[in-house]
Amino acid sequence: MKINIHAGHNPDGKVACGAVGHIYESTEARNVVSKLITLLQKAGHTVYNCTVDNGTSQSDVLDRIVRKCNSNSVDLDISIHFNAGAKDNFGNGSNTGTEVLVYNKATKAYEYAEKVCMEISKLGYKNRGVKVNQGLYFLNNTKAPAMLIECCFVDDVDDVKLYSSDKMAKAIATAICGDTKDDEEMDKTIIKLTVNGTAKTLEGFNVGGTNYVTIRELCDLVGVTVVYDSATKTVVLSK
Ligand SMILES: [Zn+2]
Repeated sequence: MKINIHAGHNPDGKVACGAVGHIYESTEARNVVSKLITLLQKAGHTVYNCTVDNGTSQSDVLDRIVRKCNSNSVDLDISIHFNAGAKDNFGNGSNTGTEVLVYNKATKAYEYAEKVCMEISKLGYKNRGVKVNQGLYFLNNTKAPAMLIECCFVDDVDDVKLYSSDKMAKAIATAICGDTKDDEEMDKTIIKLTVNGTAKTLEGFNVGGTNYVTIRELCDLVGVTVVYDSATKTVVLSK
């Protein structure tokens, strides 16, 4: 897929920056965007960063973002924001949560929006659901199917306690392209086996609860010869 992604608003400290609470919207949106881009690129997608850092006003930021978005022909437009308005400064033990905005239910972005809500809610956030909103410049003016993700609330201590830009980016990436795996997540593991009554071990990887070993190492263990036939690109096993 080809995907546009941007962080909403100018950078923190500039005119037209985002919401400020226990974390800063503009800064965290940029953190999520950069991590999300890495994950999506690793998964083989083409990603354009349409973030704007030098807008002269809120409407200028939006105008520049939309022009950047529409200059690329993409399958999906994603805007990353953080919400505000919870005003929970001390933590009441329950977070305010996540929501995703789309132009209408007919947009192709709708199914992605639902998945994003679901994946972020798996992190422990309340799922506020997908909301239809036809009053947002970004949703109204982008050509490709678009969604605006309000990751969580910057002014709710409970939301902030749960928050990590790594986990947020991972959740969104998973919603868009299925389970993405960092190399670090390939947990090395020692697998114990019994081969014809003899205890053996193999070094492998555990991914999502499933053990993986190389064909060659497993075959060596059970006395099967492995040859790679490069002409036919076939692994040949023989006793
Ligand atoms: Zn925002």
